[in-house]
Amino acid sequence: MSSTAEQLDLDALNQMFETAQPTKIVQWAAAQFGDDLVMSSSFGAESAALIHMAIAARPGLRIVFVDTGYLFPETHAFMEQLRRQFDLNVWTYRTRHDPIAYLHQAGEENPTWRKDIDACCAANKIEPFERAIKELAPKAWLRGIRRSQSDLRKQTPFVEWSPRYNCHAISPLLNWGSRELHAYLKSHDLPYHPLWEKGYASIGCNPLSCTRPVGQDEHPRSGRWTGQDKYECGINITKNSLDSANL
Ligand code: SF4
Repeated sequence: MSSTAEQLDLDALNQMFETAQPTKIVQWAAAQFGDDLVMSSSFGAESAALIHMAIAARPGLRIVFVDTGYLFPETHAFMEQLRRQFDLNVWTYRTRHDPIAYLHQAGEENPTWRKDIDACCAANKIEPFERAIKELAPKAWLRGIRRSQSDLRKQTPFVEWSPRYNCHAISPLLNWGSRELHAYLKSHDLPYHPLWEKGYASIGCNPLSCTRPVGQDEHPRSGRWTGQDKYECGINITKNSLDSANL
């Protein structure tokens, strides 16, 4: 454990943050870690909210964006729109694979449906993210996960030490839902991802096996990896072992 990890009283911080507004948690993270703070963003449906909070607290903060090679064109456009609008410092980490070549090599004949989702996520999503954290070597990492998104995320504390990434993982939005995010986006005149209007409540990669639009009465995350016993791509698991996690 690093000296920074030893200095923080995580129990006290997490107790305090249970009733704090996300902006306050982001401000604490920016003050505590300064240049050693990075954030990750998928530039997904409601991503503009945390980005807005983070750059208000720390202009020029490095934002890690993983390009799996299978993102929607709208996601690239949305990233570019926000990057220009807010002068974001985006660090794009790309898969090492050529997207078409990977499908051939992996025996994935249908580009709209992955047979082996875990293998594809490992090669094209997790590897670039792990590379990013290794290269940037932050002391803390800000991310936008929420407890309402999955059972695994319900257990997440606001600040935790991640042995996997050798840094603190900070999750200011844990207690927010779509309602709070909507209010924040509206009050700051921030955009949703362009596919949000078309029913895409949670947006990842473009194969139908990985992202689909959902109905009004469906859980937003039900549009991810439909029919698979999978709820996480694996990036947000902070422990060393992914074996026990219900990915
Ligand atoms: S979400 Fe789908 S396309 Fe994207 S990396 Fe994972 S399996 Fe591959």
